[in-house]
Amino acid sequence: MTERFTGSFTQQDPIPEAGIAAALAVLRHGRLHRYNTAPDELSETALLEQEFAATVGAKYCLAVASGGYAMGTALRALGVGPGDRVLSNAFTLAPVPGAIASVGATPVFVGVTEGLTIDLDDLAAKLDQARVLLLSHMRGHICDMDRLMAMCDAAGVQVVEDCAHTMGAAWHGVPSGRHGVIGCYSCQTYKHVNSGEGGFLVTDDPHLAAKSVMLSGSYMLFERHLAAPPPEAFADLKYTTPNISGRMDNLRAAILRPQVADLATQCARWNERYYALEAGLRNTPGLHIVERHEKETIVGSSIQFLLLDWAADRVVEVIDRCKARGVELKWFGAPEPVAFTSRYDSWRYAPSAPMAASDRILAGVVDMRVPLTFSLEDCALIARIIRSEVSAVYQLTAVAE
Ligand SMILES: *Cc1c(COP(=O)(O)O)cnc(C)c1O
Repeated sequence: MTERFTGSFTQQDPIPEAGIAAALAVLRHGRLHRYNTAPDELSETALLEQEFAATVGAKYCLAVASGGYAMGTALRALGVGPGDRVLSNAFTLAPVPGAIASVGATPVFVGVTEGLTIDLDDLAAKLDQARVLLLSHMRGHICDMDRLMAMCDAAGVQVVEDCAHTMGAAWHGVPSGRHGVIGCYSCQTYKHVNSGEGGFLVTDDPHLAAKSVMLSGSYMLFERHLAAPPPEAFADLKYTTPNISGRMDNLRAAILRPQVADLATQCARWNERYYALEAGLRNTPGLHIVERHEKETIVGSSIQFLLLDWAADRVVEVIDRCKARGVELKWFGAPEPVAFTSRYDSWRYAPSAPMAASDRILAGVVDMRVPLTFSLEDCALIARIIRSEVSAVYQLTAVAE
């Protein structure tokens, strides 16, 4: 009998009961705007910021409307503006070049390695083209952050980390988002905490924190923050910083607080699933496992493997055959962007020269989401299905040649 998987690749866990209860309390009192507080009340949003700052060990935290908004705010706070160039990953998702374009700047794309991290040699060659790197830890793959930071520090390039896929992850024990000058996170449904939409910006720099708070639309209510710098940091900024509204609200914050408290447990559950999948895929002929660095503390909320140097029609055949058995794989090599997958050459508002070495890797990247609603048995079954279909197509190819 041919095995089939019948679960959903897009169904996340429900919101924890504590989050539902807290959300109902906010709905009942009606004070959803973060600065709408009763006397002596601390808003859910301000408390969430304090708790997230503690979770990642940052001095300051600002909760905002989305991860993309956090990145745009980070760039604005650093003074990036029209005509500037910003280094970023060729392998990432659309909100990243979008954040750069949102401030009128232009991305300079840096290539990707077989480990699916930014190519540090390519970065070294391009470091003189910009003064900011928006580094995307795409799909949770973290590059050698010690080397990257040493290179960027030496070149005077400031690093903003896009941690949409690395909330809860770390490099050499340092939480992802805490190497660069600013870290940005997403709370969108498909990330590691879920409020539908939402994001965080963290930093230890009081000037950047104050500027971000003003940018997010704090009016003159910045003293109601619990994870922002003291009023002195706002002294001049409050007159010179435009309000570009993108605040978090108390309803989303209420939903998020119990999830932030539970992040480590959830990350461990993701990793059990990730390693079950990885074990099931190992030693499949023609399939290249993306090995994780020993200094990386991962959060396996998605898994990637490479069908390196496969003909495009063979990759499509694998994807189609897996789909017929209920396993939804995404392919970064498709000529047309589909759903969430697009590539640096799909972003035609930011033209760039082709990168042959990266194109070879992107042409082989197959990607799969790992929602926590999968059981470990589901993961073993999914791995068996992928393994059998990859093997079948690989053998056909070998025979044909
Ligand atoms: C989701 C995502 C973001 C931010 O997304 P928002 O939807 O704006 O919260 C940033 N970078 C990557 C790589 C993402 O996948």
